[in-house]
This record gives sequence, structure tokens and C-alpha cells, in this order.
Amino acid sequence: MAESAQEAPVVLPSVLSVKELAETLERPVPDVMSALIKNGVMATINQDIDFETASIIASDLGIAVEAAPDEEKQETATTVKPTEGKPRPPIVTVLGHVDHGKTSLLDAIRQTDVVAKESGGITQHIGAYQVEAKPAKGKPQLVTFLDTPGHEAFTAMRAHGTKMTDVAILVVAADDGVKPQTVEAIDHIKEAGVPFLVAVTKMDSEGADVNKVKQELAERKVIAEDWGGDVVFAQTSAKKGEGIPELLELVLLISDLAEPKGDPDGDLSGVVIESRLSRAKGAVATILVQQGTLKVGDYLVLEDVTGRVRLMEDWHGKRVTEATPGTPVQVAGLSGVPSYGSAVIGAKDEKDAKAKSELNRRQQHAKRLNKPKLSVEAIKRAVDAGKVKRLPIVLMADVKGSLDAIENSLSKLSQDEVAISLVHTGVGTVSENDVRTAESAGAMIVSFRARVEPTAAALAKQLGVQVSNYDVIYELLDDVTVALETLLSPEIIVNEVGKGEVLAIFRTTKKNQIIGCKVTSGKFVAGSEYRIGDSKESGTVKKLQKVDETVEEVASGTECGLTIDGPQAEVGQKVTLFRTITKPRKLKPVTGGK
Ligand code: GDP
Repeated sequence: MAESAQEAPVVLPSVLSVKELAETLERPVPDVMSALIKNGVMATINQDIDFETASIIASDLGIAVEAAPDEEKQETATTVKPTEGKPRPPIVTVLGHVDHGKTSLLDAIRQTDVVAKESGGITQHIGAYQVEAKPAKGKPQLVTFLDTPGHEAFTAMRAHGTKMTDVAILVVAADDGVKPQTVEAIDHIKEAGVPFLVAVTKMDSEGADVNKVKQELAERKVIAEDWGGDVVFAQTSAKKGEGIPELLELVLLISDLAEPKGDPDGDLSGVVIESRLSRAKGAVATILVQQGTLKVGDYLVLEDVTGRVRLMEDWHGKRVTEATPGTPVQVAGLSGVPSYGSAVIGAKDEKDAKAKSELNRRQQHAKRLNKPKLSVEAIKRAVDAGKVKRLPIVLMADVKGSLDAIENSLSKLSQDEVAISLVHTGVGTVSENDVRTAESAGAMIVSFRARVEPTAAALAKQLGVQVSNYDVIYELLDDVTVALETLLSPEIIVNEVGKGEVLAIFRTTKKNQIIGCKVTSGKFVAGSEYRIGDSKESGTVKKLQKVDETVEEVASGTECGLTIDGPQAEVGQKVTLFRTITKPRKLKPVTGGK
């Protein structure tokens, strides 16, 4: 009966385009598209989707699938096991409310660096630095501090699924107490499950009140040890340079419990903690090595960017040839500027690097597309709310003239059933504000020759807002048309296959009935749907038999046996076999042309 369910599962890669999925599943593209829309994913034919989405679509279409094995491995190559290998310097992030003294504290800690002092204090800001901390007992230990804002680090870790910190320092100013970003920082830390301590800063200031800080933190379930909790507190004054060695000692205490490790002989993995375009060196990135040893000459994959390490420098600006786990180094020799938080892995050669980065690019893109926050959610809400399905769009153009022209054309695309809702329009560049507007409305951004500010692009990536750029108007209109068409509910066509009459009932079980019929017109085909008499209820013909042989088809005038799953029949009733086809619909043509 359930013959098809026993077929071997179809093997799917970790990422593939809608078209490739349809081909692999041997289903028409429109069927796959409507299954995607049903699941809230808006994708065009060439857009990539990830395995997770593809498998949901496949199961909707009644096809069993499984992930290709080696691809699975490649995906996990970017995830690090921080507890394997040799002890490495802990990585520390400082976060807290603005103006509570994060930068001053990081500067004060940096000043304890011996090398910098000896070499005359020349340091370069590469997003992280290292200092030697001296515990009360035992040998001095290296500690790596990220000097980029902690909030960003946590957001990037979440976006990229990377880990870049072992210990967090929650900074709270002694004279100001818990403020909104303090609360946000606590949420970040707790969500990521990172061990942390509190540094009460500005202890020298007039209104300093440690007890008030402890009280306010206790209200947020951050309870000091001397208040019966398990959070250690340090008290510092960056201005007077006080409390820094004690703070470092507490950092070591906490990191010793976390036991950060990294295997210098393992496969290379790291994370990008800073990147920019340098006039002298081209694209550079600071990589925090987590596993393996990064060497000059290594081939790298930094998500969608590739590279071969041409030059490597530590935070003193000193050239180095190797970097072991826990060490930040700036590398040159990259194909582009990787985004903050990108996972870094090694590659055999240039070809391997390119292939891996291409796969990463597609995977990331697919993931972004499938983020539930996308426009899709809003579209669904709109669909649930009313009859008209709306496609929310933020439209940006380079000049007013193009904006007016496109707006006018778009307004013509809207029809009774589906419509475009222009959430916001603007001229000039696409800014972070535009991205936020789009996100809150669940809209996608359509930009015509409007430059996307790099910060806006990064935010869009992070929030999962789709930004599409065009420089040809009709391509823009075509894509929006396709998007609108995918919102139209497909047309359902019923094709009659054949008719017959019930001659006998052989067996009736709870699930199935086996009946004998004579085909009176058309033919009977296994797998068709059926109705009994005039009833609207339908079921499926599971199996068709001629005498004792299972067959696919039975011609008119022939007697046959049917195993039916659905409404039951009685002798003498008429049976109609049919097939339904769902056909995607096209928008009604726009009058007046483009
Ligand atoms: P951030 O925004 O958290 O990085 O804070 P900053 O480090 O930029 O410091 C904000 C302000 O607080 C600046 O005006 C600093 O001079 C001041 N500040 C920082 N640390 C101390 C401190 O230990 N004592 C006093 N009195 N002021 C401080």
C-alpha cells in the first residue's frame, strides 16, 4: 500500500536553488514554489534555500530526503570545540552602558602591557590586544582582550554562530548604576552562557556607591558573592589606575574555571574580529585563532571571502609568521573585506578555498532568506488579516525621477487579490534607518541605483532584511511581479480520469476498502483521487488490480479491483476517478505597457 514511502530517500546538499530542488525532487517548479510560500518562504527560482527548508518542502510534497554526508561535515568544520587541546589565553569582552568607562578601562588594562612600555608604547589597534596577568599564585598568564564594543561582539556571535569570548566583564559606573544598556548586556551574557564578572568603574568619582550598584544588579538577578550570590565584583578607577591588577586576577580566576583550550595542531579555525580596507595592504582582517596554527602562506576561507596570508602582524605591529589559539593577528592577502564575526577556516589551495567560500556564500544567503523575521511573516499576517495579500516594500532610488517612475509602475501591478504596499520610499542612499523601517514592517528593500551604506548592509544582513539592488527598471518590475505572482493562490484544475460502477465489496477495514468495479468510461489509473456518487468527499485509489495482478491502468469496459483510502462505497454506486493539478497563476497583464 505505502509503496512510495519505502523508496530510498532523496539526497539533498546543504544548499540548493529552488530550481535545483525541483529538478532533484522531479517536481514542477511551481509546485515547489507554492509549497515554499505555504511555509512562508518567498524565493525566486534561482534563489538558494538551505537543507532544512528543502526538507520541509520535500515532506510537504510527500518525498523523503536526507542530507548529503560530506556536506554535513563541511558545515561543522566552522564550529569549534573550545575544550579540546592545550590551554590557551582566555578571550575577554567588556560590555556595559555607554559612558560607563569601557574604553577607559580597556586603555588602563592595555597600559599594564610590558612589551608596549619597553618598545615605547607603539601599539596598533587591531580589535584586540594581549596583556600578561599575574595571578597571586602561579605563573603569569596571557589574556586577550577584545577592544571592539562588547554588544557588537555578542550580536555578531549570534549572527554567525561563532564564539569569540570566554569571559565577559560587565561594566557598571559606580556613580550611575544600572542603565538600559546594562540590562541589555546582562541579557546578551546570559543568553550566550558566558561566565562573567562585574567591574564597578569610576570608583574615584564623587557619587560612587557600590552598594547601590549591587542592589540594582541584584534586582536583575546578578547577585554579588558577599550578598549570597555567585558573581564576583571588582572595583576600579581607570582615572587613577586603581583596581586593575585585582580585576585581571579575577579574570584569571573565572577563565581558569572555563579552561579555554585550543589545539595548535588541529584544523585551523578562527573568527574575524576586525576588518577594513587599508591603503597600504589592501583588505586586512584581524583573526582571532581558535584552533590550529595560522601561518604565513596559508589559504583561508573567511565565509564569503578567500585569501592567502601574505603578511601577518601582532597588535604591537610586529611581523609574525605564526599564530596559535587565543592569539589575535592582523592578516593581509584577502580577496575582500570579510564581515565582523565571520568564521575562518583553512583550505588546501586556492581552488579549495573558492569552492568552500562559494558554498558558504550560498549557505549564508539561504539562511538569511529563511530567517523567520523576513518579510514573509508580515506577508502571512497580512494574508491572515484580509483578502488582499500584500507585499510590503521599502523602495529607494538614486533620484526623484526614477523613484516616481517606479512608484507609478508598481502601483499598476497591484490587483484585487494581491497588492504592493509601499511602506516607505526615499531618494539617496539606503541607510540603517531604512533597514529598521523595513524590518519592523516585515518588508524587503528594493533599491534602484541607490547606494547601500555599508553599515546598513551589515544591519540588513544581521536582521535578515532582504535588500535587492537593480539598475534596470524592467528587471526590478519583473522581479516584483514574480514575487506578487507567488502570492496568488494557485488555480486548482480537476481533470476527470474515468468513471465506473461498484460491482462488489471484497473487504472493508478501518482504513481501506477493497472493491470490485467495472470501468464504464475513460480509464482507471492507480494513484488517482476518487469520489463516490455525487459526494464532494474524496479519497485516493491506493492500488489497482486486474484479476490478481497489480496494474497501473485499467481500460474502459474492464472489471478490476480497487483498494481505496477514503469514503466508502456500496454496491451499485458510481465511482469517478480524477486528478487535481495546481497551476500557478499569472498577474493580469498591465495595460499601458512599461
Ligand atoms: P565608554 O563609553 O563606556 O567607553 O566610556 P569611556 O571610557 O569613554 O568613559 C566615559 C567618560 O567617563 C569619560 O568622560 C571618561 O573620562 C570618564 N571616566 C572613565 N573612567 C573613569 C574613572 O575611572 N573615573 C572617572 N572619574 N571618570 C572616568
